[in-house]
Amino acid sequence: MARRFAPLPPVPDHPALELAVLERWDAERTFDRLREQNQGGPRFSFVDGPITANNAMGVHHAWGRTLKDVFQRYQALRGHELRYQNGFDCQGLWVEVEVEKSLGLNSKRDIEDYGLAEFAARCRERVAEFAEVITQQSRRLGMWMDWDNDYYTFSDTNIEYIWRFLKEVHRRGWLFQGHRSTQWCPRCGTSLSQHEQAGEGNYEELDHPSLYVRFPLKDRPGEALVVWTTTPWTLPANVAAAVRPEAEYGLRDGGWRLAETGEEYDHVVRGEELVGLEYEGPFDELEPQAGVVHRVIPWDEVALDEGSGIVHIAPGAGTEDFELSKAHDLPVLVPIDEGGRFYPQYGPFAGMSTGEVEEPVIESLRDRGLLVEAGRITHRYPICWRCRTPLVFRVVDDWFIGVDEVREQLREENRGVEWTPPQYGKRMDDWLANMGDWNISRKRYFGLPLPFYPCSCGQLNLIGSRAELEERAVSGLDQLQELHRPWIDEVLIRCESCGVEVRRIPEVGDAWLDAGIVPFSTLGWESPAYVPGGNATGAARGLTGADLPDLAYWERWFPADWISEMREQIRLWFYSQFFMSVTLVGRSPYRRVLTYEKLLDETGREMHRSWGNAIDANEAFDRMGADVMRWQFCETPPAQNLKFGYGPAREVERRLLTLWNSVSFFVTYANIEDFSPSYDDLRSGPPVVHPLDRWLVARVGQLVTETSAGFDRYWTPAVTRAFDAFVDDLSNWYIRRSRRRFYSFDEAAFRTLWYAVAQGLRVIAPVMPFLADELWRNLVAGACEGAPGSVHLAGWPEAGEVDSALLAEVAELREVVELGRQARAEENVKLRQPLRRASVFGSEAARHHVDEIKEELRVKEVELLDSAPVRFSYKPNLRVLGPRLGPRLPAVKAALETGDFEELGDGRVRAAGQELGPDELLVERAKERGWAHSERFSVRLDLDVDAELEQEGRAYDLIHALNALRKERGLDLTDRIVVTLPSADADLADRHGDWIKAETLAVDLQVDGAALEIEKA
Ligand SMILES: [Zn+2]
Ligand SMILES: [Zn+2]
Repeated sequence: MARRFAPLPPVPDHPALELAVLERWDAERTFDRLREQNQGGPRFSFVDGPITANNAMGVHHAWGRTLKDVFQRYQALRGHELRYQNGFDCQGLWVEVEVEKSLGLNSKRDIEDYGLAEFAARCRERVAEFAEVITQQSRRLGMWMDWDNDYYTFSDTNIEYIWRFLKEVHRRGWLFQGHRSTQWCPRCGTSLSQHEQAGEGNYEELDHPSLYVRFPLKDRPGEALVVWTTTPWTLPANVAAAVRPEAEYGLRDGGWRLAETGEEYDHVVRGEELVGLEYEGPFDELEPQAGVVHRVIPWDEVALDEGSGIVHIAPGAGTEDFELSKAHDLPVLVPIDEGGRFYPQYGPFAGMSTGEVEEPVIESLRDRGLLVEAGRITHRYPICWRCRTPLVFRVVDDWFIGVDEVREQLREENRGVEWTPPQYGKRMDDWLANMGDWNISRKRYFGLPLPFYPCSCGQLNLIGSRAELEERAVSGLDQLQELHRPWIDEVLIRCESCGVEVRRIPEVGDAWLDAGIVPFSTLGWESPAYVPGGNATGAARGLTGADLPDLAYWERWFPADWISEMREQIRLWFYSQFFMSVTLVGRSPYRRVLTYEKLLDETGREMHRSWGNAIDANEAFDRMGADVMRWQFCETPPAQNLKFGYGPAREVERRLLTLWNSVSFFVTYANIEDFSPSYDDLRSGPPVVHPLDRWLVARVGQLVTETSAGFDRYWTPAVTRAFDAFVDDLSNWYIRRSRRRFYSFDEAAFRTLWYAVAQGLRVIAPVMPFLADELWRNLVAGACEGAPGSVHLAGWPEAGEVDSALLAEVAELREVVELGRQARAEENVKLRQPLRRASVFGSEAARHHVDEIKEELRVKEVELLDSAPVRFSYKPNLRVLGPRLGPRLPAVKAALETGDFEELGDGRVRAAGQELGPDELLVERAKERGWAHSERFSVRLDLDVDAELEQEGRAYDLIHALNALRKERGLDLTDRIVVTLPSADADLADRHGDWIKAETLAVDLQVDGAALEIEKA
């Protein structure tokens, strides 16, 4: 007695099914067993880009994490050994700003009052909390990772590896302290780097003042420069005004401005003639302005399409201004402090923010008669990537890594990386070609402590490891609980040059250093020994058991075979690890990259909580289930934005239902017939006796080939497309064509269908691990001796020899049948109505499959046509014919429309006495009743229904109605029935009685004039 297969409910409850599968995976240690099974196999090295453990996961994170899981699962099915290490990003502005919000702190002063040790503790707590949340969500998504051994970027080990990198950078002479103008967030109180700020989202349309201001010229009484600015707060720091040397400037009403054509001026000169003139600054009375000589300088970049053509220059408050100060030896006045407030020396403005001074500045100018015009302007303005505060510019001392020396080597290495999609490799190259020096310092708290100890003797002391720190420390070691502020700041070392005690600079590092070092810190580069738990150090202690491997391990796993993150990471993580790796070991840390675009809502808008269109990941797990989410993520080409939502989810569910129904069909009849499968069939293939079986086995081979190719080139849409097409063939061809074989227990049909479904589950398992495993459990693991208990332990199927001629033949046949159905649909002739004849043109396959076509199209005969008696309709190509025919065109047009023309061959036509060439005509196939055409084939149905056909059609309707009644009454598929027919259908009983009985398992047909009725026999 065979074991019964579990009957399937009418539709799958994805979320419930997935929770049950998760429990089973835990109970049966499925993931551990997979790892044990693949241990010692060929390696597939994947390095996880760390997710910031700062908030719960969003559905956009679920996209990336799905792709990571899909390809890891595929490689595991291929027998590869993998590391499965997940990473958490743990420090820097992300975490700090969220912790500030949760504690109600809103400035650096607030943080310092709160206490750095306490603040660091809160940051660590937040990371621990959300690492746990993300872990649970990732498990729910089906992501298989080594969850107890995650790496945390705030571990001391990770920090030490970055120190080592910085030491190498210094050894090469690339590290420098720059006195530079930089984008500055007044709320966060730190400068921000080019790569952090480069994103599209880091700009907003903002409304600012637009001022025209008079700067009186010193030696020319009554004359003034008319200067334009949109940042009134920078005027107190003005030291110069710039003109375009070759542009023309005109004097009118005592003001010099760009001369516009058609306007009258008292006097017009070229800009270069104004250069060198001195003027009275707008705020000369302020203390910092003492001694400043304001003058006109030349600048080729002055914009001529907006403003007055004269630009005010404040080198302490603008990047280009700062560059000009170096060229023209201008003083640099920095008016605002870290918090964006005016320094005390700025008299009436002292303590005000850049926004708060706008009004007083404008008032003061107006009072003194210097304001020409005050309006507003809306323009694109940079905002902080982290807290959305509008940025300002400050000139500060930051630490930089010079990139010019390594730039070409980076570009060269990038050429060896395989990017998917390939165009992103070019983007990386663009970034590498144009990136500026790397600003690595942040004036913040909970981040990588930069190990720089400058000495007044001129020596820059750099610490490369904790051991080195301990060796050189003169005090503070006893309280050093982890390598973070405030503890690290208390450790003083001795200057290696002059021997005095020196202190670390207060700055912390760019968070991209933290993530960039991961291919070294997690794989044990240059580590002399394998240290169990060696990444569970510092702040990471107690959160993970991650080992620090040794150099031999690094050599085995570096570089990564494959990594994947969103496109934005080109200038971020893809870049930082690339830069660090090329610097440390001279080569790329990864061989292949898959990158992808943005996740939008299903209508194509960005998701925002405030717009009410954001979908919470947990809600999606509960409402659509992880498999349906994963399917959406996988079917979108990664170079396109992904439209995610419940509408697309329903569409996915609908398609998965076709698979479900096919399995359900199998289960139903297999249980009736006590079918018992053999696992060997998956190894050697089922016996093929019937041509359809041979075809389905070949079709499985094609599926395996196509999905292998899709996975191998990291292109999930090819996988989902191949699977969809396979399920369609399985359901709408194989099962449809084989129903009778299942009703009559043709064992070969059962074996072939079982084989096809089981192989299908194996190849789709990486994409939808839950449903595939649930069905595998039912069809394979629970039914076969010696079968793996999970599809994920079953390995990857062999494609075998694929009979492509047979596949092409059946594909052609399906196309022909599809055309016939189309011809019916267009004339609203239902499929149950038999027809006399189908005529087929162009298909060789049709010749060998006349019987199938007859059945599928329900026709009595199939006629094969040698030529296509297809008519074309023509329209004049007006663009060409209009000029040629002129007034004769309407007659030609009318003749073509009414069909009054002659075809001359080669696409030429004669109409209304004109001969027209192919390029003068727009050709379409004429629409004719009963015909349907594809590129290759044509099918015509004879749509005339005579009395005999009509009667047969009614018999089909009756059979359909009876089977619907059987279902309605809840009869078993094997139950026999007695049928009572209304007298109107008496002719059907006479003419088609036996057939109707056979199709409905009826033992008797009675006619008694009442309504249609059935009874269990
Ligand atoms: Zn900010
Ligand atoms: Zn010194």
